[in-house]
Amino acid sequence: MYADIILPVPLNELFTYSVPISLEPLAVPGARVYVPFGKGRRLTGLIVRTHNVRPTLHEVKEIISVLDENTPSFLPGQMKLMEWIGKYYMCSPGDVFKAALPSGLRPDSSAKEQAFKPRITVFVRLGANRTPRFGKTAVKQKELYERFLDLSGIRDEGAQTRPVTKRTLIDASKSASSFKALQDNGILETYEVETGRLPQFKGSLIEPSPLSEAQHKALDSIRQCFRSKNVCLLHGVTSSGKTEIYIHLIKEQISKGRQVLYLLPEIALTTQIEHRLQRVFGDDMCVYHSRCRDNIRVEVWNRLTGDHPYKLILGARSAVLLPLQNPGLIIVDEEHEPSFKQEDPSPRYHGRNTAIMLASIYGAKTLLGSATPALESYSNAVSGKYGLVTLTERYSGIRMPEIVIVDTAELRRKKYMQGLFSPQLIDSIREALENGRQVILFHNRRGYAGTVECPDCGWVQKCDCCDVSLTFHKSLNTATCHYCGRSYRVPAVCPECSGNRLRSRGFGTEKIEEEVSALFPQARCARLDLDSAKSGYESILEDFQEGRTDILIGTQMVSKGLDFDRVSVVGILQADSMMSYPDFRSTERGYQLMAQVAGRAGRKDVPGKVIIQTRQPDAPVMNLVRRNDYESFFQNQMEERNAFLYPPYSRIISISLKGVKPDEVDRAALILRGQLASVLGEDKVLGPDAPPVAKVMYRYIRRIIIKLPLEITVDKSRALLSKALDNTLSQNVSGITVSFDPDPQ
Ligand code: ADP
Ligand code: ZN
Ligand code: ZN
Repeated sequence: MYADIILPVPLNELFTYSVPISLEPLAVPGARVYVPFGKGRRLTGLIVRTHNVRPTLHEVKEIISVLDENTPSFLPGQMKLMEWIGKYYMCSPGDVFKAALPSGLRPDSSAKEQAFKPRITVFVRLGANRTPRFGKTAVKQKELYERFLDLSGIRDEGAQTRPVTKRTLIDASKSASSFKALQDNGILETYEVETGRLPQFKGSLIEPSPLSEAQHKALDSIRQCFRSKNVCLLHGVTSSGKTEIYIHLIKEQISKGRQVLYLLPEIALTTQIEHRLQRVFGDDMCVYHSRCRDNIRVEVWNRLTGDHPYKLILGARSAVLLPLQNPGLIIVDEEHEPSFKQEDPSPRYHGRNTAIMLASIYGAKTLLGSATPALESYSNAVSGKYGLVTLTERYSGIRMPEIVIVDTAELRRKKYMQGLFSPQLIDSIREALENGRQVILFHNRRGYAGTVECPDCGWVQKCDCCDVSLTFHKSLNTATCHYCGRSYRVPAVCPECSGNRLRSRGFGTEKIEEEVSALFPQARCARLDLDSAKSGYESILEDFQEGRTDILIGTQMVSKGLDFDRVSVVGILQADSMMSYPDFRSTERGYQLMAQVAGRAGRKDVPGKVIIQTRQPDAPVMNLVRRNDYESFFQNQMEERNAFLYPPYSRIISISLKGVKPDEVDRAALILRGQLASVLGEDKVLGPDAPPVAKVMYRYIRRIIIKLPLEITVDKSRALLSKALDNTLSQNVSGITVSFDPDPQ
């Protein structure tokens, strides 16, 4: 028998191995195998299929072992999904396999010691010697023995009623030697149990909250939609209670014996939602995201392929790749979030679109939720491909916040700005603080400043291996590269002109904190951005939630997933920076971000106020945000997309070429561009150009973007691209790597 196997290598093919007779019963599709590969290497692979066709091309090697002895690690639907990802996102099966499987389940010859080890706990019970006698010198032993009797409950019940771990017993007595003596005399003995690392829910479960009338109607409409459609978009304003509706739907699925996958964007702060779900679903649920350690991932995976799988999986993008047995519903919350798309490494998959595919493989339904849906999703809903359910009011009649647009350009001219703050924002903050309310200040950049710059000669501090200016961090007096992570010391004098006036330009959350403290010395401030989050964002959030801090300053992280009761003012300091990206989605992103941040203002009996500071108060999007008019925003953007043939009126693929020699990369890019234009037409090919960061880790990058008409199928577009690429590579192009990013965000 032979097996076609996926290996974790970036080659676009399956590898055929022969299966020794003794392993045949175990070698089934979905099982992991250990195989020899290349010179002395051994890799973990995945069986896709078995057959009896002897490969003719080369010598066939034998599988060393099958790693799954009971149930295969991969389930059939999951493997179908992986195949689809490889095809649609144009990457090798090995890339998808690597992304799916926790490294602890993928031992290979170079990293054997990283393999998963189950967690074992050592427990204590009575030994064979049931009538112990303790001499006068054995006081400690006697104490320890008595301690065990107390802890175990044997004294009261006659039999051990509570498990006692060896660690508790030794910790309690501080005497490992006495314990050893008891063991040696057969008085106590130990036994081992595999206990696992997953936290267990302690506390009693509650029923889902009863829904309001509006929520109830929405829930009914969603059910109605699912009778005829596979995907439904729930467009509900911030705080309309979408999460409560999800909870009801999840409960329903579980009672029908089906699983639910609940996806959230990676950057979202999952703690609050995790607690809300845990109170209802307890140990039926698990959490899976990139911050989970590998051992935890392995345990989740094993439990999912076992006899008692989790019924609810709350996770980020990568959770779509988990083995699910019978999902009935997939929820994609904040479905508009760009972080659902994986950028690097390959597979560059979109979590939402992959979820929809996953659901269709299992005959399950997908519910997309957002206050600011992606244009693609909303247009699918408007066209009738998806169902559409709308919630226009906030839960329990809380009003939408009042949004005030402030023209900072004019205020600056008139010298009314105090640093970063307009008088309107300062007044609102003061009023909030006087009334014991809280404030959130939003800025979409981190660090003290964008760059370190010499005002005399214009020198800018850049990373040595990437073409990108460094971000200055004042508190550490260092500058870091956000592409490769290197840190640099900020020089005392300019290396170009020896000027000593090096200063930082632009501003970040640290600078805001400084100015706020100067304006409101009595206020307690905290900062939440990727840098401060490294030391644990939970405590920062908890302090704010409990009212121990008054002002929370943050980046994207404060824009969603958070629910605070006392926030009455939200300030967006520099709205323009959200929309200045050279990208056809920048207006959409700006709208979404502003609407989401604004949504943090105003809760129970606290009317909310949002101050948006901008240099372009007349930009149409500002007025739409102020009126919370998603419909008009949608119409307006769709016209633009249509005029320039951008999604959803086309499918975009971004192609990047990388190489160490800039001339070679340029030449290859021009050839490829020509090839593509000759097939698709000049107007469908953009570039080549240098992306904003045009050099990363010493490699130069050029980018070409193609707009594919919607009638070109995925198979056709793949064929077209690979032909253009072959034609390019055949023209003496070397040392260039090319990668594809379908549907870039
Ligand atoms: P969304 O997901 O639409 O932003 P949430 O589900 O987080 O909204 O609801 C906003 C707030 O209202 C939360 O604090 C939530 O606990 C509360 N809430 C929503 N629906 C209900 C309900 N049916 N019963 C009690 N509280 C609710
Ligand atoms: Zn200088
Ligand atoms: Zn760098």
